[in-house]
Amino acid sequence: MNIIVQKYGGTSLGSIERINNVASRIKKWAATNYKLVIVVSAMSGKTNELNDLAHQIDELPNKKSLDFILSSGEQVSAGLLSISLNKLGFETELFNGSQIPIKTDSNFTKARIEGIEKKLIHDALNKNKIVIVTGFQGVNNKNQITTLGRGGSDTSAVAVAVAINAKECQIFTDVDGVYTTDPRLYNKAKRLTEITFEEMLEMAGSGSKVLQIRSVELAGKYKLPLRVLSSLTRPDVDIEIEKVSGTLITFEENITMEKEIVTGIAFNRNETKFTLVGVPDKPGIAHKILLPISKANIEIDVIVQNISKDGLTDFSFTVNKNDSAMVNKIIERLVNELNAQSYVCDDNICKIGLVGVGMRSNVGIADKMFSSLAKENVNIQMISTSEIKITVVIDDKYTELAIKVLHDAFELDKS
Ligand code: ADP
Ligand code: ASP
Ligand code: MG
Repeated sequence: MNIIVQKYGGTSLGSIERINNVASRIKKWAATNYKLVIVVSAMSGKTNELNDLAHQIDELPNKKSLDFILSSGEQVSAGLLSISLNKLGFETELFNGSQIPIKTDSNFTKARIEGIEKKLIHDALNKNKIVIVTGFQGVNNKNQITTLGRGGSDTSAVAVAVAINAKECQIFTDVDGVYTTDPRLYNKAKRLTEITFEEMLEMAGSGSKVLQIRSVELAGKYKLPLRVLSSLTRPDVDIEIEKVSGTLITFEENITMEKEIVTGIAFNRNETKFTLVGVPDKPGIAHKILLPISKANIEIDVIVQNISKDGLTDFSFTVNKNDSAMVNKIIERLVNELNAQSYVCDDNICKIGLVGVGMRSNVGIADKMFSSLAKENVNIQMISTSEIKITVVIDDKYTELAIKVLHDAFELDKS
């Protein structure tokens, strides 16, 4: 069976008009030899709205209940799209995460997929139905509803595509591909027709929310072709043109041979920096600080430990803002336990990642990055590097300036 999985995001399904537009696009694809499985997000703003309701009752709501609430948004958009397709004459079958089931672990609000049953999807496709699956959610071994973390519908789509052996997974969104940086922040950003899987992984990890990082990891693991496309263009555009528009996440090493040194710049304004001030500088201190945080299933991102002075050091790290209330609690306890002087929590930061496989064989990239920022008086608070990425943390008020300066310095508008 020739199956394509298409995922439509929140903005793409943000109104009845847009849902009808998506249905028309699906109609065009349904006229080909492909069988279609459609994965949907909630209508734009819906998940935030549901999340706010829960937080009006409790700042740290019970995560099991929260997932029960959050998962409902996807069910609404799936139903609406189904009605729209029915009206165009198509038979549909709808499944939520627990019906398929999409089996996950029990880490509510950031559950990981453990397996997907493909029987119901195959049966419906064999009956020539268009299958619609709610993204972002699954079910644990106690039959409780879980969600996969914000932006998780991308991961649902890739996981379903892998499970049913689809030819390709197409992520339809509100931009027509992956750009050199967020086109909403800098209008000189250029669309990339291809990006390597490794680079996309680093871009997503540095905050380019066009794809959730876990969807890229999964596509990479199973070598599944992944494409980012616009859902906002006219739905009747020729299918061959549609196939080559957008951005293909590629596994081909050779396209990287003569590539630019820097491919893209990602940024993340959704992190908080914590600093434990004046911690006794003893072996095992980093472990003691980070263990309770990872035990709470919170991912730590950039870490910096200062040179010690008079036997004391400062220890900083960043976490996602969604986790900062919990980390605050943990850190308050750690200050006492570790006999630290105090702690500082800074929400006004931005993490910027300069990404490119060409960095492997080129020197001077970091220097150019730092000197470009220095010329504009942008102070760097933290630095970390990997083989194909340089990350800096700066004051959030310089985000726009820093992105533009770096985009110009590395001439990404000429890509
Ligand atoms: P969806 O609701 O379809 O999942 P998202 O809002 O999650 O869409 O992701 C699409 C958004 O990602 C775009 O509107 C854009 O602002 C943002 N974005 C960030 N970085 C990039 C980038 N490098 N290329 C394209 N879009 C990006
Ligand atoms: N609706 C969920 C969110 O807003 C999942 C997604 O959009 O991918 O995070
Ligand atoms: Mg998204």
